Amino acid sequence: MASLEMQGPYDLANAEIDERVTQISCGNYALGWVSGSTFYVSYVGRSDKDVNDRLKKWVGRYKKFKFSYASSPKDAFEKECRNYHEFGGSEKLDNEKHPERPNGTDWNCPVCNIVD
Ligand SMILES: [Zn+2]
Repeated sequence: MASLEMQGPYDLANAEIDERVTQISCGNYALGWVSGSTFYVSYVGRSDKDVNDRLKKWVGRYKKFKFSYASSPKDAFEKECRNYHEFGGSEKLDNEKHPERPNGTDWNCPVCNIVD
């Protein structure tokens, strides 16, 4: 079964984000909603610099979030790719397209090996 390996879910609100995401760090997040004890993933993303700041841009558009810190932008990119594929890609998620590698890198998706 697909697993995010993230903390949460928490309410997607500025105060809650500041309370939970205290490090300025690259990281990953998932956005969605909760029913019972299940977190339903609608969107997966990452930030290469500051996952707290990125999450705040989504306030009002989704109800709940989960997140994890990443040890490097490359780790964040690869985890985002795995999340994207494990949760059904663009067919099931709101993500319109495959995660993009950061500008200036030649990193590849660990799941599908996108080549351009
Ligand atoms: Zn891929």
